[in-house]
Amino acid sequence: MRSRRNDLIQHFLAYGHADQDFFRGQTDLYDGLTIPGTIAAFYQQGTGGFVLAQHKPYFIDPRTPVFQIAPGQLRKSHWALASIHGATVRKKVETGSLDPTSLTPEQLREMTVAVLQFQETFAQKSTQKIDKYLKMIGQESAGGNFNAPAWLVPPYFYDPSVRGANYGVSLDIARMAQAENGGERVHPIACVDKRALSTAGSDVNNLIDDYAPFSQTILFFSVFEEANASEPQLQGFWNLVRGLSGRGRPPFMLFGGYFSILAHYVGLAGFSHGIGYGESRNALSPVSGPPGKRFYIPALRRFFTVAEAEYLIAADRKERGLFQCVCGPCEAARAAGRGALDRRTREDIFHHFLRVRHDEVMSIQIRKLTDLVADLRDVHNYATSIARGFANKLTYLARWANAIQTA
Ligand SMILES: [Zn+2]
Repeated sequence: MRSRRNDLIQHFLAYGHADQDFFRGQTDLYDGLTIPGTIAAFYQQGTGGFVLAQHKPYFIDPRTPVFQIAPGQLRKSHWALASIHGATVRKKVETGSLDPTSLTPEQLREMTVAVLQFQETFAQKSTQKIDKYLKMIGQESAGGNFNAPAWLVPPYFYDPSVRGANYGVSLDIARMAQAENGGERVHPIACVDKRALSTAGSDVNNLIDDYAPFSQTILFFSVFEEANASEPQLQGFWNLVRGLSGRGRPPFMLFGGYFSILAHYVGLAGFSHGIGYGESRNALSPVSGPPGKRFYIPALRRFFTVAEAEYLIAADRKERGLFQCVCGPCEAARAAGRGALDRRTREDIFHHFLRVRHDEVMSIQIRKLTDLVADLRDVHNYATSIARGFANKLTYLARWANAIQTA
């Protein structure tokens, strides 16, 4: 285990259209924005105006895999997304699920050009509302000076494995985009099932070899939830990050949590997640949005339902007192008579999480990985001793520690 990186991991938030009010005023707690292609295409003016007014780096996730399922489940925003994928894809989506291998090289090129063009021109074409947003945050008109996306992200497809045909199509698209766009700004998304991470190393090695030519790869393991991932999957992820980083290509994790922050010690350059939810995603699911209210317990590094969190905090109060959060937003909620978790507003819970996540990101500057792993083991032993009924919900803490120490 090495602790060679002391610089910070880039911390991006997935932009949600309904959460504009929340994002405003939190800009010191995150580094950049990930914009889902659906939202960028469907609410282009509102999203563009808001995002550009934040003056933060951003990139647009094309979300192409949603077309790999039957179109009956698609919403209006998905049709807008289909349109930015070019006329051929739009037409194919109208007639059924999109088979990536059915696209000819010319059609792949048309799709890739259309998606990258949308990203390249997003800033200039999304300015109708920008002065409104700048005014809201007390700034002058931008005068036509807008930031393009930090990276260009080619369309991509999901494949359960690293050897499937769709995986090959995605790689072809990425190479085409890189060849035609000068390379450095093209950051492709590698999208496979989380099971590919645990297939005895060979798939991970293939991923490293295939994606090392790109300046940065954005990793997307479908339904990879850090707290539910197996030890071999976590090890595969760790080795993949270390491998790409060792080739001088530190990757970015599209949906990550605390384990991804720890992966910064082996070179993870950045990670993204939603606020209060969205630390994993099913690549093929067209559905997104907030689940039930959940509370992030900082010492345990994950979300729990409000009932679970209340139980754990009560059990801990009589012992070490580790689980009660003392961040600014939590103290403010307590002072306002909303101390009990079931009285917290959605904003209280979001602010708390973002504050805590920011502190986690900062902590890797001053802590050693060995100490953070020792903390995981310590809190695992402690939490299972005070809440025995929760033992099976807390095993991830031991898996994370084991995976890091054995990968
Ligand atoms: Zn808090």
